[in-house]
Amino acid sequence: MIVLDKKEQDYLLDTIRSVHDFPKPGIIFRDITTLLNNKEAFKFLIDHLQKRYESYGLDHIVGIESRGFIFGAALAARLNIGFVPIRKPKKLPYITISQKYTLEYGVDEVQMHIDAFCGKKEAKVLLIDDLIATGGTAKASVELIKQANANCVEACFIINLKELKGESEIAKLTKIYSVLEV
Ligand code: AMP
Repeated sequence: MIVLDKKEQDYLLDTIRSVHDFPKPGIIFRDITTLLNNKEAFKFLIDHLQKRYESYGLDHIVGIESRGFIFGAALAARLNIGFVPIRKPKKLPYITISQKYTLEYGVDEVQMHIDAFCGKKEAKVLLIDDLIATGGTAKASVELIKQANANCVEACFIINLKELKGESEIAKLTKIYSVLEV
């Protein structure tokens, strides 16, 4: 399995800006815009993901709104396969399927177009997002992919916030690959 070594991980980690107390006090926000704006680092990351996933025989990449779109679309173009967006409610224009999930306070929902996998049963898909924190959004997204009769072969995150243990719930549903851990 293709993974980055420690030196390569440190190189990418150094390109991600940490913003303290955003969006609220106590949160350290991992700002990937600095990675995206570093052309060598962004290319290095997408090259790595291409090498890892080109042998998987994927049919689609599914990206979670909104930063999952950036990495997912770049990778889909490299792998010459389609890209499917998972979005918050009322953003997608055509018929959608939905998956609700609980937050600390209240409920949220993710949606996908009903024909996202072009009618193919058991389509092999990779789910991608920039970061896994509590894992709530990603877990609901894997469930949404299953609901669409597709096979989520792996969930990929650029950064895993290890302390929050978001991985554990998702690991019951699919394999997980985190490029970087903090
Ligand atoms: P969660 O459902 O808790 O795993 O939240 C994941 C989503 O929230 C990801 O799509 C991230 O873009 C965003 N997010 C949560 N925490 C952070 C953080 N500390 N820095 C940057 N993005 C975050």
